[in-house]
This record gives sequence, structure tokens and C-alpha cells, in this order.
Amino acid sequence: GEDLDGAQDILIIGAGLCGSLLALRLGQRGYNVTVYEKRPDLRKVDISAGRSINLAFSDRGNKGMKLVGLEEEVKKLCIPMNGRMIHDKEGNTFMSNYSGRDYEYINSISREDLNALLLTEAEKHENVKIHFNKGCKHVDFENTSAEFKDYIDNSEFIEDADVIIATDGAGSALRKSYYLGKKFLFSFSQDYLTHGYKELSILPAEDGGYKTFKNALHIWPRGDFMIIALPNLDGSFTVTLFLSYDEGEYNFNNLTTPELVTEFFQKEFPDALEIMPNLVDDFFENPTAPLGTIKCSPWHYKGNTLLMGDSAHAIVPFYGQGMNASFEDVVEFDAVLDEGHDNWEAIFKAYEKRRKKDTDAIADLAIDNFHEMKDHVGQAIFQEKRKIEMALEKEFPEEYASKYSLVTFNEDIGYREAMLRGRAQDKAILNMLSDNVISAEDDIKDVLEKVKEETEAILEDD
Ligand code: FAD
Repeated sequence: GEDLDGAQDILIIGAGLCGSLLALRLGQRGYNVTVYEKRPDLRKVDISAGRSINLAFSDRGNKGMKLVGLEEEVKKLCIPMNGRMIHDKEGNTFMSNYSGRDYEYINSISREDLNALLLTEAEKHENVKIHFNKGCKHVDFENTSAEFKDYIDNSEFIEDADVIIATDGAGSALRKSYYLGKKFLFSFSQDYLTHGYKELSILPAEDGGYKTFKNALHIWPRGDFMIIALPNLDGSFTVTLFLSYDEGEYNFNNLTTPELVTEFFQKEFPDALEIMPNLVDDFFENPTAPLGTIKCSPWHYKGNTLLMGDSAHAIVPFYGQGMNASFEDVVEFDAVLDEGHDNWEAIFKAYEKRRKKDTDAIADLAIDNFHEMKDHVGQAIFQEKRKIEMALEKEFPEEYASKYSLVTFNEDIGYREAMLRGRAQDKAILNMLSDNVISAEDDIKDVLEKVKEETEAILEDD
């Protein structure tokens, strides 16, 4: 085997959320780490346009922060969101907590601030070097080398390393090289939703405060489309419109004038429109982007190259787990390094084996949640189910966790286990509600017993 404790050279492509955490962790472990990032240094240049400005950050992501000792620093960037605040068409709101346990909540965090913190921490290690404005064109995975273009002087150069790890996001250059190389059996799928997204904003109030409730993830569910809003530290909210490109009365293709956009919001989101005087400007200035799921395998070529983060498993954003999953990737990879394998191929293999089932699961859960958020959260039976689940979690904090809690807060089990158990529970509760076997008014201990029994029966059947 190779001497993996020695000065192994690791080349990382992409210094986004996953790449910067990976660089920091591998730097802490003593490797020689070189990172190449296509875009300018976001700590020096404003390049926020076009990507989600803030994100929901939760327990699985936080495991990554604990791993590198940044939990307290990251907390300072977080705004707790205790639940979903649902806005109906009349402007009525109600809060639906994410958990019946008070200490379980998700956070809104700035992508830029978090990425900047990780970059700065990584650079504190003299064995970590990060280069900006250098985009990877192609990876020669057989020779473990990568071709880059320098966007400052337009020169091109080749770098080689002992291993290359690509964390270059959904459009990964390494993944393309696998696909185009046709040197091994590489499976790849990409599924787009018929919906795209566009970012809008609610600006801070005159006094710098928040124009709507700060500590929630706001949702305006309308069946086939929705807007959501997450708070920022400066008093603003980032609003995201999820809408079909070409279906329905209003869609991205036909919302072509300020009048139509205003009419659409007036009809569907009147309370949001009231606090969005900048709507039309935002709408026509900001890009509309597609949403898709990417699955592929294998993630690695022998012991030479590996895909991680969105490059291996891009998912739709509706569970708020893409970044969290990518951080969890680093935690899982680190655990595999601790297992003491004596060559990179064994490490990459072991990592993919323990990880892929879970990233496949969160990809599927994220699609489920698309329908849940835009549609189900507004329905009576769904609301009664949530009410029961909240009561179960409150009364029996050790015994019951909803699907949402299993996925988001229960970091000790993988996404796949959370999915299987969570789906069975959902099915059990919804079946029993529609058959009038349980209701939110029943004795909660009885409800727990029935839900447990029915869940086990469903799990055994599947
Ligand atoms: P990225 O963050 O995409 O980083 C890739 C990096 O590689 C970038 O810096 C890029 O410039 C660089 N790069 C790309 N190509 C090259 C190249 N050829 N050479 C060199 N560098 C390159 N996740 C959550 O957990 N919670 C959320 O609430 C959430 N909301 C989201 C909302 C939206 C609208 C979207 C689109 C995503 C959301 N996500 C969320 C998902 C999250 O953004 C991603 O999962 C996460 O950014 C993945 O990190 P990454 O480092 O793998 O990829």
C-alpha cells in the first residue's frame, strides 16, 4: 500500500461549501491540499448573483462544523427558524413547528458568510493552498491530473496529484470527464422538475427590523407553486418563487411584464406583495434557474479520483438538505479515513458503499417534500397529522420522531433509515386518520400505541 500518513498531495476542484470544508478537514489531518476554484474569492468580490443567498442549516451540517471545531463560530451566523409559518391567500398565518421538542429547530445562514469562514479557516493551515479564478476544464482520471484555465491571464496549465477530489457542484468537470471518457461503466441520470426558481427579496424595515416574523421559514403554498422566505441577519428576507416554466395560468414563460407580475402576486400572495415594493425590479433583474436531481455511480475511478457533494448527488432544495448532506459527506469520508485502509481505492470504495444509499434517499425525500410544501401543508388532513406528530414528540420525546425530525434532527441514523421509517409512519397516520381510527382529540398515549403498531406492520409488509 501507499504511505497515506505521509505527505500525500490532494487536489480539490471547487471551493464551495463542500470543497472548503473538505480542504479544512484534510488540512487538519496533515495532507498537502491544493484547491482550485473557478470563481473569484468571494471574500473580496461580490459574486452572490444567481445562487441561493441563504440556506437552511441543520444538525447533519452541524456535524461537519463540530468535526473541524467551528460550531460556535457558525452559531453566530445562524438565525433559528422554529417552524414553518404558512400564509394563506387571505393573508392569515399560522405557525407549524418543525418539532415538538423545543431544542430542535433549523437555521437560516448566509451561503457567502459560511463559505468565507470555511475558506479563512482552511487557509490558516500552511499545508492548504487555495487558488481562485482557475476553472477545471477536464480531468485525466487515468493519470490523476487536471487541466485548468486561469481566468486572469487566460493561460492553461495541468496539475497532478496523488488523488483528485471534485467538489465542483452540480455541473462537475470530473463527472463530465467520467461520462465523456467512456473508459469504464459510468451510470448517470439527471431529472429536471417542470418548475424553476427565482430569488426575490423583502428588504429590512426603515428601522432595520424584520417586516415579518423573523424566526420562521415562511411558506405561501398554492398547490402548483409557492413562494418561501428565509431571514437574513440584516433584517431582510430572501424570497424564492418556485413556479412552472410553462404550465398554469401564470408561469415563468408568460410572466413577461411588470403588470402581469404584480397581478400574479396581488392575486396569490397579497400579504407578501405589501412588503415587497421592490418585486418588479427583483423579478426582472434576477435569473430564473432550473431544479434537478443528479445521481451517478461509481463516484470514484480506482484510487485516483472521487466526486463529493453536489458533484456526486445534486438534489432539489425542498428538504433544505443539499448543503447539509454535502457536509455530512465530509464527516463520513473522515470516518472512513479513520478506519485505517492502506490505499485510496479502498478508502473511496468504502466511502461510496456507506454513503450512496443515503444520498439516494435524500434525493427522493427532497422530491416528496416539493409536493408537501407547495400543496399538502395547506390541506386539513396534513395539518391534523402534523398536530398529532407535534403532540407525540412533545409527550414522548424519547419515543417518537416524525419523518421530518428523523431526516433533519436525528443525525445518528442515515437518510435511508430515516426515509423508510418516516414514510411508514406517514402512511400509518394518514391511513388511520382517513379511517377515523385516530384523531387529534384522542388520548395521546393511545395514539402513540396505534401509530407504533401500524408503522411496524407497514415496515414488515414492505
Ligand atoms: P457548490 O456549493 O455548488 O460549490 C461548487 C464550487 O465549485 C463553486 O464554488 C463553483 O464556483 C466551483 N466550480 C464549479 N465548476 C468548477 C470548475 N470547473 N473548476 C473549478 N471550480 C468549479 N442546501 C441546504 O442544505 N439547505 C438549503 O436550504 C438549500 N437551499 C437551496 C436553495 C437553492 C435554490 C439551491 C439551488 C440549492 C440549495 N441547497 C440547500 C443546496 C446547496 O446549495 C448545495 O447542496 C451545496 O451548495 C453543495 O455544495 P458543493 O460545495 O457540493 O457545491
